[in-house]
Amino acid sequence: MREKTVFEMIVEGKIPCTKVLESEDFLAFNDINPKAKIHILIIPKKHFKDFQEFEPELMAKMTSFIQEVAVLSGADKQGYKLLTRCGAAAGQEVFHLHFHLMSGF
Ligand code: AMP
Repeated sequence: MREKTVFEMIVEGKIPCTKVLESEDFLAFNDINPKAKIHILIIPKKHFKDFQEFEPELMAKMTSFIQEVAVLSGADKQGYKLLTRCGAAAGQEVFHLHFHLMSGF
């Protein structure tokens, strides 16, 4: 059996995080090693290794969740980057789908 990722352990409450927003399907929390003034990670609670595995129906729901995180954090006002790495060659380190929302450089 594969080992659980750190983000799955965060979803299960086994590892702490600084929560920004939570819904039935998604969780947003601050990156532990921020690369910008605002650096939030946004994940589905259900496990997907990366974006290639993701379900388009869930992505449609996730869009409004991400937009809400942008408004809550103020990132929508100052502009932001939204990034997901897909695969080790692209620099992905945690193999549970996540979007980086970064703002304020
Ligand atoms: P990536 O390289 O796209 O897979 O990004 C993984 C991100 O997860 C990095 O920006 C890390 O700083 C962040 N990270 C790793 N462990 C934790 C954690 N326990 N809590 C919050 N962020 C984390």
